[in-house]
Amino acid sequence: MLGLMQDQPLLVSSLAVHADRHHGATEIVSRSIEGTIHRTNFREMHARARRLANALRRLGIENGDRVATLAWNGYRHLEIYLAVSGMGAVCHTVNPRLFREQVVFIINHAADRVVFFDLTFAPLVEAVRPLCPLVEHWVALTDAAHMDKMPAASLCYETLLAAESDEFAWPDFDERTAAGLCYTSGTTGNPKGVLYSHRSTVLHTMVGAFADTLALSGRDVVMPVVPMFHVNAWGLPYICLMVGAKIVMPGAALDGRSLCELFESEAVTFSAGVPTVWLGALQHFKDSGKPAPSLRRVLIGGSACPPALMKALEHDYGIEVLHGWGMTEMSPVGTVSQLKSKHAGLDPDERLAIKSKQGRALYCVDLKIVDGEGGELPWDGTAAGDLLVKGPWIASAYFNEPGSPLRDGWFPTGDVATIDSDGYVKLTDRSKDVIKSGGEWISSIDLENVAVAHPAVAEAAVIGVRHPRWDERPLLIVQRRDDAAVTRDELIAFYAGKVAKWWVPDDVVFVDKLPHTATGKLLKTELRRLFGDYRLPGTGV
Ligand code: AMP
Repeated sequence: MLGLMQDQPLLVSSLAVHADRHHGATEIVSRSIEGTIHRTNFREMHARARRLANALRRLGIENGDRVATLAWNGYRHLEIYLAVSGMGAVCHTVNPRLFREQVVFIINHAADRVVFFDLTFAPLVEAVRPLCPLVEHWVALTDAAHMDKMPAASLCYETLLAAESDEFAWPDFDERTAAGLCYTSGTTGNPKGVLYSHRSTVLHTMVGAFADTLALSGRDVVMPVVPMFHVNAWGLPYICLMVGAKIVMPGAALDGRSLCELFESEAVTFSAGVPTVWLGALQHFKDSGKPAPSLRRVLIGGSACPPALMKALEHDYGIEVLHGWGMTEMSPVGTVSQLKSKHAGLDPDERLAIKSKQGRALYCVDLKIVDGEGGELPWDGTAAGDLLVKGPWIASAYFNEPGSPLRDGWFPTGDVATIDSDGYVKLTDRSKDVIKSGGEWISSIDLENVAVAHPAVAEAAVIGVRHPRWDERPLLIVQRRDDAAVTRDELIAFYAGKVAKWWVPDDVVFVDKLPHTATGKLLKTELRRLFGDYRLPGTGV
């Protein structure tokens, strides 16, 4: 027997409609690329999203078409999120920090038909446009007054909107329809597209707001520092619309000083970003002696939150830290380090020890750790194994890629973890061969491929080593060819123009022989054991 409840699909457009009807006057404050502060509210945003949907229809965008963005966090980016998904197309956020070849690959692989871009990315657009033949329109996120600085033949966002009516009825469709697309380079090989559905997005939004997740409400002022091109700013813009929280968008200015200015002027209560961002903010707190008085909680994730950072924010500045773990394939949030009632009597250091773990699973995320044969390991806080996850907002396949990454219905995260008897996950290692620096991926394989192309290099390995600011930085370990000579500086210089500047290894170590597994693969675990604590030049650690 079926229940007798109204059958309403869970659609992204419902967030815009709800925000408009029930929180219409709630503000969205954005720092523009030029540095000025722009103010709008949920009602105006919804009207502009409807205009944009009309404009996109006029440009020929149909259900399922991919529409891309190369943009910072700002109100126009949010309008695009809502208009594109709401009309039944797919909002594809492209990470502009990637190397140009990767941006080209991603835009072509997704077959994007329209690309919206911020002024900052005009040079990037100039460079990639000739290589992206499927893109029909490049739209500059600006008004007519700034169009002279834009690449020729670009359309103007504000001109497009001004020509349209704000009458647009969001269509109803199957909630499993694709809503968003985000590529991850967190694995080896080419970036892979993770395709979120309306259902997965709305469920992730709902659980994300829960008291034991981020505890967000209509009384919060939320500043997503995490970019909207990083898994939809971890879902925060959607959560704000659902709960009616004021949104503060920092634009391109992500240094400690600029962030703190906005924390203060907009009375921000909650913010989120990778550890590198918070190290910058903390430094500014210390230097200026002017911490953000309204900031109550921050979510730190994307890389492990250093306990010293957590301690300083909590103890010295009274800012509660939530440590979160997840991944692009998980929409992204999987665990958050919220305490339980049994922890109420613990002293600050004991609480810190629990909160430094990656946290416990959200409702809708199931997880387990397994050994090399796939056997489940105990939750004793000691046994470490491959971390597998499943749930309604976790990827089952990649966009336009054959096969499925799932193992018996579980998604292998590539992280290695312990789980304690209370369900707290602690990451101990990574089985995927990548480096995460300042919240962005660096492919060790790509860096090794460049090194071995050097005539003096017999074999090369790249591992991530600790860095106080960027969490990890690449270290190149090289076995030279017999009687070939090459120096550290020559090898570093060899990377110029072959990878993004911030990918270039920080240092080079020469060894007589690199360690291998029985099957002849580089033994990265051994290299990490030997060089994990390597002191990079200039870090003093
Ligand atoms: P991404 O897909 O770019 O969001 O990266 C996901 C990966 O980042 C995870 O699989 C982890 O390897 C790493 N990661 C994310 N959050 C954390 C965290 N809190 N602690 C340690 N590693 C993390």
